[in-house]
Amino acid sequence: MKQKSVFLTAIFFLIAITMEAQRGIPEVTEVHEPVPPVVTPGTGTAPPSDAIVLFDGKDLSQWEKGSGEPAPWEVGDGAFTVVPGTGGIQTKQGFGDVQLHIEWRSPEVVKGDGQGRGNSGVFFMGRYEVQVLDSYDNHTYPNGQAASVYKQHIPLVNACKKPGEWQTYDIIFTAPRFNEHGRVSHPARVTVIHNGVLVQNNVELWGTTQYIGLPTYTKHEDKLPLSLQDHGDLVSFRNIWVREL
Ligand code: MG
Repeated sequence: MKQKSVFLTAIFFLIAITMEAQRGIPEVTEVHEPVPPVVTPGTGTAPPSDAIVLFDGKDLSQWEKGSGEPAPWEVGDGAFTVVPGTGGIQTKQGFGDVQLHIEWRSPEVVKGDGQGRGNSGVFFMGRYEVQVLDSYDNHTYPNGQAASVYKQHIPLVNACKKPGEWQTYDIIFTAPRFNEHGRVSHPARVTVIHNGVLVQNNVELWGTTQYIGLPTYTKHEDKLPLSLQDHGDLVSFRNIWVREL
């Protein structure tokens, strides 16, 4: 009965709006709620007022090892650098849908090639990797180069700067959704802007990014830590912030 009256009310409004619109009244199609909250944008790459700052150049207090021990990577000159062999680090806080800003730099002195050159990675929810790699004049499989969704999506273009130069990723990540049977109902999605250039346009992830084998989805929590990869290379990071969406 209640459903019926809601339905009838909706129909009434639709008819009323249509009639008003036909009379040429512009206010009929104006929507006044919700009013977007005010956010003060940052200058340049500084965080907007509603961002959660994950690294402001001082310390790794927002990060830890997977085991819960303090993050052992080296902090200096407003950045931090992978300490090879110590393993990846992750945020203490878990995140779902986010806008992420992160800056990274591969070593100026080039060592190695292909996947062995300035390799790290940004792992959303500890599972879904946007590749960090020195892909400046460095051949590797394109679905594993910088800004690829590792072994899933080749970036639209190669926007890499020279080794030793700071680079930016601005990433919009939408977490996957799972149904009550544990199956994925809405796959994860990612948009990546590399140094101001769109390189991944709302691509759909096939599952976790795998080094070996095919990606699959396994149901997990709504929010999980963001992690950075230790791939044995001296990659540095700075100015990291997220906005929860
Ligand atoms: Mg990697």
